[in-house]
Amino acid sequence: MAASRMDLDGRPIKPITICMIGAGGFIGSHLCEKLMSETPHKVLALDVYNDKIKHLLEPDSLPWAGRIQFHRLNIKHDSRLEGLIKMADLTINLAAICTPADYNTRPLDTIYSNFIDALPVVKYCSENNKRLIHFSTCEVYGKTIQSFLPKDSPLRQRWSYACAKQLIERLIYAEGAENGLEFTIVRPFNWIGPRMDFIPGIDGPSEGVPRVLACFSNNLLRREPLKLVDGGQSQRTFVYIKDAIEAVLLMIENPGRANGHIFNVGNPNNEVTVRQLAEMMTKVYTKVSGESALETPTIDVSSKEFYGEGYDDSDKRIPDMTIINKQLGWNPKTSLWDLLESTLTYQHRTYAEAIKKSMAKPTSS
Ligand code: NAD
Ligand code: UDP
Repeated sequence: MAASRMDLDGRPIKPITICMIGAGGFIGSHLCEKLMSETPHKVLALDVYNDKIKHLLEPDSLPWAGRIQFHRLNIKHDSRLEGLIKMADLTINLAAICTPADYNTRPLDTIYSNFIDALPVVKYCSENNKRLIHFSTCEVYGKTIQSFLPKDSPLRQRWSYACAKQLIERLIYAEGAENGLEFTIVRPFNWIGPRMDFIPGIDGPSEGVPRVLACFSNNLLRREPLKLVDGGQSQRTFVYIKDAIEAVLLMIENPGRANGHIFNVGNPNNEVTVRQLAEMMTKVYTKVSGESALETPTIDVSSKEFYGEGYDDSDKRIPDMTIINKQLGWNPKTSLWDLLESTLTYQHRTYAEAIKKSMAKPTSS
């Protein structure tokens, strides 16, 4: 397998070692899976958690045993970080606080996580001449100009995340320009699929608010109405995680085409309002679970009630695919219906029993 793999320019791909920070998260777990099953590369997987990659780490008889090594560490304060970056050819930084419910309620943690904690990673890559693929966000684009109405609103904490990501992008770009850092920046546009976030009360805190896919999955599993924040009028384009991971693999294996670039990665064909997403998820879930549809499938909730003070929303985001098409020839393949069907099948299989059990238990307080 290894010998026959070629890059986009027809050259054989050499096996490399990747230091993946945040490997235990949603995107990291899918990237590790892809790298283990389809490539000869080695992964040093860094994270504070490893639940989502446990199936890749054990047992020792797995075909890729020895090619993936988990290091439990917090990059905020761990002297092993530089050594691990030095051991690898490429560093991929996925570590971040990236759930909107945190941006306005924990703006300091959000800024530290997305900017300050990323600084040593950039510095060690630059000083040791190591290539870096850094995960930014589509949110750096902010809101559309037409959605800006001059209001006497205070500074919206929601944008703590976007601003921290913007500044780290600029810093990486400047390291490239002034110190020759080889970098690629990825701006994900709503990647979704299995293992995204957590189901509150099952594998995450009962009061926690994950991103929309997990929120709506949780509502469907519990047979409660899906909550539409401020009417669910915002628009998003959703891309299937497995399609998006193909794009990341192309970046990893085609450094000459990816270095120095910032790539939007999303699916412009899968645009819906959040309300339409809720409606489609309800239909798909009815199909995959065999359960009847709810009488009241959705309810409206204000953003203040749902997220608290200081929340704001991106009204619309559609990725411009020009650069990724030109450099890597990548295009997403999976329709929204199809990706929801496989994702909700996974959610149902993984959580339905646990939810039933937890709902049958009398509450302790
Ligand atoms: P995720 O929360 O599932 O993964 C992030 C991982 O980083 C988690 O496992 C977490 O434990 C780890 N981490 C955080 N801080 C750490 C620290 N100090 N030390 C060690 N590990 C730490 O999120 P994800 O969806 O996989 O996102 C990965 C990256 O992509 C993030 O940078 C995020 O901002 C970006 N992104 C993702 C999306 C998306 O659609 N999923 C959209 C925009 C941006
Ligand atoms: N949202 C919603 N109900 C929920 C969770 C989220 O209506 O239970 C909305 C949220 O206000 C936003 C969109 O869904 O308009 C996407 O939210 P997500 O948390 O996935 O992240 P974002 O795309 O804003 O980064």
